[in-house]
Amino acid sequence: MVVAESKPVTEILDMIKECKKVVVAGCKGCVTVCNSGGEKEVGILASELRLARKVAGDDLEVLEYTCERQCDPEYIEPLDDLVKDVDAVVSIACSVGPQYIAARYPFLPVFPGLNTVFIGGAAEHGVWKEYCQACGHCIIGDFGGLCPVTRCAKSLMNGPCGGSSGGKCEVGKGTIDCIWHLIYERLKNLGQLSRLENPWGFKNWSTSRDGGPRTMIREELRK
Ligand code: SF4
Ligand code: SF4
Repeated sequence: MVVAESKPVTEILDMIKECKKVVVAGCKGCVTVCNSGGEKEVGILASELRLARKVAGDDLEVLEYTCERQCDPEYIEPLDDLVKDVDAVVSIACSVGPQYIAARYPFLPVFPGLNTVFIGGAAEHGVWKEYCQACGHCIIGDFGGLCPVTRCAKSLMNGPCGGSSGGKCEVGKGTIDCIWHLIYERLKNLGQLSRLENPWGFKNWSTSRDGGPRTMIREELRK
């Protein structure tokens, strides 16, 4: 899932300081799962904004709505009535959401209430870790199902580097596993250490985002 975290309320208050009425828009997708932008967080942020502005003697009206998904234009539509007389939308979806809202309402300011952090998963309650950089050509099958692109600090395709010590990466002061240590252990468990006998070769980066924003087209779905 896309993992995102809340911006400090002070930062959001500063973004909307000229506004008298806003909509806080959440999303029932990834940001609900990672507890940063679902219905509950919409209610909490709306209350925090109202309270802070009340204390400042400058009341703010805050409407609340949580879309099914903000990364799908048809689910933005229900905001049409709500945004008619507001000064701005604060989106607490991943950063796709505010951009879709901006596209639908060309004359309405939109502000992000979250920082989108990475593609990852839950490690334990309240802890999420990054697992994928969406390089567009997944090669983890060659590495026991583990991703050196994302989980090696240097994205080495032939590791480990000289900074690997005791199974830990030199980056992170001993707090981050060296993925190349884990790849070695995993391939050993699978009886596939022979995969490491020859240099892996070159990764095809033409599918990654260095050429600008990417588009994926599935013709069979467009018909
Ligand atoms: S190889 Fe690419 S697509 Fe696969 S997990 Fe790593 S970054 Fe993601
Ligand atoms: S110590 Fe391991 S994870 Fe860290 S940069 Fe070197 S090979 Fe990559």
